[in-house]
Amino acid sequence: MQSVDKTFQLTRADKDLLSKQEYDVQAWCILLNDKVPFRMQWPQYADLQVNGVPVRAINRPGSQLLGANGRDDGPVITPCTRDGINKISLSGCDARVFCLGVRIVKRRTVQQILNLIPKESDGEQFEDALARVRRCVGGGTAVENADSDSDLEVVADSIPVNLRCPMSGSRMKVAGRFKPCAHMGCFDLEVFVEMNQRSRKWQCPTCLKNYSLENIIIDPYFNRITSKMRNCGEDVTEIEVKPDGCWRAKAESDRRDLGQWHFPDGTLCVPMDEVKPKSEVLKQVKQEGVSEGHASLKLGIKKNRNRLWEVSKPESKWVLRGSLV
Ligand SMILES: [Zn+2]
Ligand SMILES: [Zn+2]
Repeated sequence: MQSVDKTFQLTRADKDLLSKQEYDVQAWCILLNDKVPFRMQWPQYADLQVNGVPVRAINRPGSQLLGANGRDDGPVITPCTRDGINKISLSGCDARVFCLGVRIVKRRTVQQILNLIPKESDGEQFEDALARVRRCVGGGTAVENADSDSDLEVVADSIPVNLRCPMSGSRMKVAGRFKPCAHMGCFDLEVFVEMNQRSRKWQCPTCLKNYSLENIIIDPYFNRITSKMRNCGEDVTEIEVKPDGCWRAKAESDRRDLGQWHFPDGTLCVPMDEVKPKSEVLKQVKQEGVSEGHASLKLGIKKNRNRLWEVSKPESKWVLRGSLV
């Protein structure tokens, strides 16, 4: 059994602030060196009192440990406070070391939080976003295939990328991401911020890493695409992306407009057969792995020493051919 008794002071200025509806006094508690960053955690069997008034600190049973995906909250204690000196006491049956505090918090609306997220051009350079896409799609190797003993190779020009938000299932309107994530997966910015009100965590839905609000940016590469798609049908949710970052909407029936290849910056790629004489086009096609002047993907399938077919891992064997746009 551990317990702590402390006092804190609320000044006249604090009280003026607290008279505004969006301000409150909050008690918070974290486990020191918590493996999960950016979350509150209260001790087992936490018993919190403010000026002798019991305050419920946790919603889980006192005996239940907080799982990796669990989040405790910081209870609002404004109604139990008074001008001047206030008493706070916490006891619990937990041998670990916690840190307890009291703070004045301001409630933010979803719109206010969205306003804190930097504009597309301020969050990340477009070139950095494009480099990430090229890394993810192309596997990061811009060298010729050294595996000359391949018996057979299957050439794929592009990979499909889904533009559905993993939270809402609908096509993203504004593509958001956590800046440190190395993967391409994004989420719908507004849906994500709205859902945080209940989940109380800034957790990447793709890799499940925990971050803080300050890490959220708009993905300049995918946001250009989702912006261009704003007026197209809800059913168009997939694009194909080449290793050089060129993309087109995956719409089987419609090869006009967004169904045509676009450069990473969103401008249309001019088809080769419109700018080159026919004979040159044929030569172009014969060159292994080169199409439409884009770098292409190569999926390696070959026989191993036991003469069994094996498919090499895409991330290690995708090879860029041709010149990068
Ligand atoms: Zn992630
Ligand atoms: Zn291209």
